Amino acid sequence: MTDKYAVIGNPIHHSKSPLIHAEFARQTGEDIEYSAIEVPLDGLQNSLQQLRDVLKLKGINVTVPFKEQVWKITQQKSARAELAGAVNTVVFNNDGSLFGDNTDGIGLCRDLVINHQVELAGKRILLLGAGGASRGVIAPLLEYQPLGIFIANRTASKSSHLAELFAHLGNVHGGGFHDIAGEFDVVINATAASLQGEVPPLPDKVLASGACCYDMMYSDTDTAFIQWAKAQKAEKTIDGLGMLVEQAAEAFYLWRGVRPQTASVISLLHNKT
Ligand code: NDP
Repeated sequence: MTDKYAVIGNPIHHSKSPLIHAEFARQTGEDIEYSAIEVPLDGLQNSLQQLRDVLKLKGINVTVPFKEQVWKITQQKSARAELAGAVNTVVFNNDGSLFGDNTDGIGLCRDLVINHQVELAGKRILLLGAGGASRGVIAPLLEYQPLGIFIANRTASKSSHLAELFAHLGNVHGGGFHDIAGEFDVVINATAASLQGEVPPLPDKVLASGACCYDMMYSDTDTAFIQWAKAQKAEKTIDGLGMLVEQAAEAFYLWRGVRPQTASVISLLHNKT
């Protein structure tokens, strides 16, 4: 029997996840169906029950704005989901319980390190933003042993709080954009500023020689942040499409025990955008 999965969110019509998982299924020969389901903003709990008990889904991906709510609801979580404070992948266990994971962080790191050969060990990382996406990537980035991570956010109290949360895992500090000091080798934009065509207010000379700039947002044309990075002569500029595909591959692996190839799916999506 075909196993069913879905991505839930609101809105969800724009989601590329059904296409990505259809490609993974085709490539690996796994017999799955994957759809996008819009869940009412005030109806998460009921919807989860329906997805499990009526539609008989085996698992779901979770996107904006439900990741934190699903984190609160799931009884069992991976260590990386516990730290991230958000769940983007759920397994519906046979006993009716939910297992929550977060694959966003590993998705970003694989895209940076494997797909784009960006060195993280010993590097100075500037992480812009202190929302769910930022929190989810801090622990996975620290596993690569960077020299340090400075988290800068519009609301400085949020980035300081995140830095305190992760300080036991490595050299992490936080503050406002005006607290950014010195040069950085890797600058990761995890703010939603690009959605509004804006760039966070960054100081001049923030990029070290050979710096890489990564925008978690992706678009068919350069985002405002990528345009800024190119103007600042960043050596590498990367958008978040690869992260999207890599986090999906990790979710597929969790559900099916088979790791799909991602390069062909990333090129397919690049050609479609
Ligand atoms: P949240 O809503 O949780 O956080 C938004 C963050 O952006 C906050 O830090 C907020 O600051 C900041 N922000 C919003 N507008 C501006 C602005 N105009 N100038 C400066 N800072 C701003 O969102 P997420 O963390 O979930 O997502 C952030 C981005 O990452 C989105 O663009 C999302 O699409 C992308 N993303 C991409 C993924 C991928 O697979 N490629 C996966 C997950 C996310 P403040 O705290 O002050 O409000």
